[in-house]
Amino acid sequence: MGHPAILTVDDDPSVSRAIARDLRRRYGENYRIIRAAAAADALEALRELKLRGGRVAVILADYRMPQMNGIEFLEQAMDLFPNARRALLTAYADTDAAIQAINQVDVDHYLLKPWDPPEEKLYPVIDALLDAWLESGDRDLEAIRVVGHRWNEQSYQVRDFLTRNLVPYRWLSAEEAEGRRLLEAAGVGPEAVPLVVTPDGRALSQPSTTEVAEAAGLSTAPDRDFYDLIIVGGGPAGLGAAVYGASEGLRTLLVERQAVGGQAGQSSRIENYLGFPDGISGGDLTTRARRQVGKFDAEVLNTRTVTGLRVDGPAKTLALSDGGEVSAHSVVLATGVAYRPLVADGVHELTGSGIYYGSAASEGPGCKDADVYIIGGANSAGQAAMYFSRYAKHVTLLVRGDSLETSMSYYLIQQIEKKDNISVRTRCEVIGAQGEGHLQAITICDSKDGLSTTVECGYLFVFIGAEPRTDWLGDAVARDEKGFVYTGPDLLTNGTRPKGWDRDRDPFYLECSVPGIFAAGDVRANSVKRVASAVGEGAMAVTLVHRYLEAQ
Ligand SMILES: Cc1cc2nc3c(=O)[nH]c(=O)nc-3n(C[C@H](O)[C@H](O)[C@H](O)COP(=O)(O)OP(=O)(O)OC[C@H]3O[C@@H](n4cnc5c(N)ncnc54)[C@H](O)[C@@H]3O)c2cc1C
Repeated sequence: MGHPAILTVDDDPSVSRAIARDLRRRYGENYRIIRAAAAADALEALRELKLRGGRVAVILADYRMPQMNGIEFLEQAMDLFPNARRALLTAYADTDAAIQAINQVDVDHYLLKPWDPPEEKLYPVIDALLDAWLESGDRDLEAIRVVGHRWNEQSYQVRDFLTRNLVPYRWLSAEEAEGRRLLEAAGVGPEAVPLVVTPDGRALSQPSTTEVAEAAGLSTAPDRDFYDLIIVGGGPAGLGAAVYGASEGLRTLLVERQAVGGQAGQSSRIENYLGFPDGISGGDLTTRARRQVGKFDAEVLNTRTVTGLRVDGPAKTLALSDGGEVSAHSVVLATGVAYRPLVADGVHELTGSGIYYGSAASEGPGCKDADVYIIGGANSAGQAAMYFSRYAKHVTLLVRGDSLETSMSYYLIQQIEKKDNISVRTRCEVIGAQGEGHLQAITICDSKDGLSTTVECGYLFVFIGAEPRTDWLGDAVARDEKGFVYTGPDLLTNGTRPKGWDRDRDPFYLECSVPGIFAAGDVRANSVKRVASAVGEGAMAVTLVHRYLEAQ
């Protein structure tokens, strides 16, 4: 297999030559630079590469091209090489139109023409795209292979875990020839799925999440017993705290039960995070954050849930789901929130077999040409509708309220209105789910007339609000009636400090009712539920950890 390709397409021959020259100068040694003068030629080149088993790392397309514009081209290119990173070349005058269009398809960057000097304007962007591709690219030969059944819940769990952790894998149905061959080679039958085959040829039948994590090279055991700082939860708040903690010299451990990135990692496109004017997918943001965490040597413990917290004088000890314990001088709770379960007949039994919480990005391609239903009226549901509309025949948003206006951002409502294959049904609720082995139909009750209808449905994605899952904290720190953790000024009652508080100062702004334990992000009572605020609070918590440690 030769070098991976960087493909560039521009109908202006002088621009096309110039960009290919600049790309060759910097990347020619490790990448094959392919230049096309029209979208149709570029698609032909991509098809040929696909047939020959080639790899494509980055695709750069001019926005304004005759016959097919850059966005239309990139949409088609994505069908052939979904993992290739994509950028659009635009003239200054087209910037607005390009940004509008970018919002509708998954484009990573746009580059303004001219890009001189390339060291400043071109190479940093291409470097970032290549890094992202290398992290999650289509390195088929090295990838983990997963053999499973489409509707088998455990098979879904493995797929979802690998997707959320940005681990490249190849999915093979147990019904197809290659899947059957792997099962046979492992000496097991179809009842043994999911079967995970590692790049070095080990076959794991029905592995636990921890075994899958280990097979994917994710760490599952802490290196030491005692740290300066332990962060519980690897969403934006936890990742922010890990980057600042480790970069400022604290021995830092981050414990994550599922996948770093948290809720934000599930977002198909975050539009309002500072510094990303054309939006960024949750996966990309997570990849970048994870690299930053690694760069500063913060340790990440995967597939471990923190199940208890004990305070022994200045030491804080956390109990882990595998029975182990780990201690630190200080703790940042960054456990965010988790989806509230949908309570309706049949839902529990079919969860993971057609019913999913969150956007379940791994299921996108599987929804091709299907009718998809999404419950929820907030931005997360809107983003999911946009995401699945790329694959599904039709997407129906089921909203309990009268309209989307009160719960969803204006820009998303506008995007949804422009999509022919998304419709919105207001004032309705799902009251039942039916199916043999997998979801086949749902029953919807319309509160306008009280009538119920049952419709065929293979995929239902649920976004009905979220709650903090902090029961494991017990009475260790003060929480509100919903379980959100009180911090700083919220702990003072008429100026009186919380019960058991043993310092001659008030709790710091993000400090909990126990000195040295902090909370950041969505889990904090009265927090702003945003990526930016979570990252900011994670960083701020570390500053307060320093203040706490200095006074010890
Ligand atoms: C689909 C979707 C789209 C969104 N889009 C946007 C957007 O466009 N813009 C925006 O600003 N906000 C958006 N949000 C909201 C934003 O993602 C959240 O506000 C943000 O992720 C909160 O970060 P956090 O770190 O506090 O918590 P979370 O992101 O919830 O992360 C918490 C992490 O802690 C882990 N965890 C929980 N309990 C434990 C435990 N006991 N042990 C170990 N680990 C644990 C969880 O597995 C999770 O990974 C979106 C949310 C969703 C769901």
